[in-house]
Formats: sequence, C-alpha cells, structure tokens
Amino acid sequence: MLTCKQASQLISQSLDRPLSWSSRLQLRFHLVICDACTRFKQQLNQLRSAIQRVTLHTESDSTITLSKEAKARIASAIDSKHH
Ligand SMILES: [Zn+2]
Repeated sequence: MLTCKQASQLISQSLDRPLSWSSRLQLRFHLVICDACTRFKQQLNQLRSAIQRVTLHTESDSTITLSKEAKARIASAIDSKHH
C-alpha cells in the first residue's frame, strides 16, 4: 500500500509522464481510501487545465500571427507574379 508521500509523488509524476499500470493501480487504490490525496490530485488537475488553457490561448495567438505571415507571403507572391 502506498503512503501519502508516495501517492503525491506519483500524482505529480503523472502530470509529466504516463505512469506504469502498476503505479496507476496502486495510486487508484490509495485515492479510494484517502481524501487528502484525492483533493491533491484534483488541485493538480485544475492547475494543469489552467496551464493548458493558457498554452492553448498562446498557441491560438501564434496561429493568428502565422496566418498573417502566410497572408503576407501569399500577397507578395501574387505581387511578384504581376510585376
Ligand atoms: Zn493519501
């Protein structure tokens, strides 16, 4: 059985990389019996989704920049054909 310390380490590891199935299973068992670690996991998940929202936002902004550049390239390509 995992200790809370081991469980919280696994939870934070799972944000960076997928856990092995045995770690996932042990963690799942721990979360069933431990409210503190369940809350910790929820908080980390909220944090992660907040980070993902920011990342998504940044990515969509850079897409706008890219499409502007693409439009400029297309416009200059059309111009060079005309001249
Ligand atoms: Zn715990």
